[in-house]
Amino acid sequence: MAASVSAAAKASAAFAHKKELAAAAPAPAQHRAGSGRRSNPCRVRAVASPARAPRAPASTGSVKSAMTMTEKILARASERAGLEPGENVWVDVDVLMTHDVCGPGTIGIFKKEFGEDAKVWDREKVVIIPDHYIFTSDERANRNVDILRDFCMEQNINYFYDIKDLSNFKANPDYKGVCHVALAQEGHCRPGEVLLGTDSHTCNAGAFGQFATGIGNTDAGFVLGTGKALLKVPPTIRFVLDGEMPPYLLAKDLILQIIGEISVSGATYKSMEFVGSTVESLNMEERMTLCNMVIEAGGKNGVVPADETTFKYLEGKTSVDYEPVYSDAQARFFSDYRFDVSKLEPVVAKPHSPDNRVLARECKDVKIDRVYIGSCTGGKTEDFLAAAKVFLASGKKVKVPTFLVPATQKVWMDLYSLPVPGSGGKTCSQIFEEAGCDTPASPSCGACLGGPRDTYARMNEPMVCVSTTNRNFPGRMGHKEGQIYLASPYTAAASALTGYVTDPRDFLM
Ligand code: SF4
Repeated sequence: MAASVSAAAKASAAFAHKKELAAAAPAPAQHRAGSGRRSNPCRVRAVASPARAPRAPASTGSVKSAMTMTEKILARASERAGLEPGENVWVDVDVLMTHDVCGPGTIGIFKKEFGEDAKVWDREKVVIIPDHYIFTSDERANRNVDILRDFCMEQNINYFYDIKDLSNFKANPDYKGVCHVALAQEGHCRPGEVLLGTDSHTCNAGAFGQFATGIGNTDAGFVLGTGKALLKVPPTIRFVLDGEMPPYLLAKDLILQIIGEISVSGATYKSMEFVGSTVESLNMEERMTLCNMVIEAGGKNGVVPADETTFKYLEGKTSVDYEPVYSDAQARFFSDYRFDVSKLEPVVAKPHSPDNRVLARECKDVKIDRVYIGSCTGGKTEDFLAAAKVFLASGKKVKVPTFLVPATQKVWMDLYSLPVPGSGGKTCSQIFEEAGCDTPASPSCGACLGGPRDTYARMNEPMVCVSTTNRNFPGRMGHKEGQIYLASPYTAAASALTGYVTDPRDFLM
């Protein structure tokens, strides 16, 4: 243990941080201060919802006091010219998401408070995504999806990603899978907007420069009826990540490193803004991984400034006009943390807390029983491509059962269609099969949250698992004595090949 702490401390030395309230450093050149519409048109025509009139920006032009991105988004959503951390403001909600676990409770509160015949405030802004307990014979879980379906039909909800045939997810073209990844893929994550969801990992959407956070069923019931929410403006901690990303690191290593640095309460009710050359180099799915786990540090939300990578990802996904905002050069941040990413090493979070960070190589004697690659954090296409890269590089077979749960139907299709770079045209599914992994499962939250006992890959015994998910609390993936090591897809794949927690450099270097 002492050795672990010591080495982790060395890794921490790659970070220089100052915790004083500080005047903001100049924003990186490509992050425009101010919130004016970009000359590059962001409007995209596509499948989804009809265009609507853009809301007048509250902080454009005559900015009286400098603001962070999060403050600006909330100022605009509350039609205020400016605001400060700690203020309570009523905001107009752009998107409300709920799913099969919290949706029925939210609907119940909505009907109790607004009446049996009440209508939601805007059927175009409510997104309902069954994803948690789907492929199970548990009658109560199945009933939850039925309640969502009845409500969506009654309210004529536009965005309901339904599943009726549980025996074959492919027979359900509307079904997507894990809500946070589906929200992004279906164009509901848009810069400058406010997205609330009845799920703590709603913060995932901050990757798009959107204010996105989880709320409870009671608040969500109120939003359903009014389209408004009362929010306290969070102060912002800025994380500046610079340096070339080593080829053995992924965004999961970065966020585990950050959480290990500041602890699970280090950003309580704070906004976490991620900037710097490393962040700019990340694709959207990696940015999502960063923002997805801010809640594990207590963060209210996470944000990445929108840029060309964001706009390109959104092309063809939404018809809604959006307007990004950026932190002002003189914005005041609660604190700054600076990271030289080029000096970091692969890390894992040991049981039973996401901030229990150690270097992956320090756990090389930890024998494992299984590997799980999936969830909103680690079950995206890029996550599987990363895992496939390790299997391909090794040419070996896995030594422990290795479960693959694509987040969404689109990810599942990517596994069977996208060629893995450097493989001569092989798909992820081919590489996984050659490595001896389990066949990719139906897309859903799977065993990330444990779920009913018949959930695929649920830990029904007290096993040791390396997982690309986001939480390793006791009982999180099933058995309360199970041990979960949170890791990147690189580290998870490397560990599957050895049967021990393994630094991916053993195969990638
Ligand atoms: S995949 Fe896991 S963390 Fe993500 S929404 Fe589902 S249960 Fe929650």
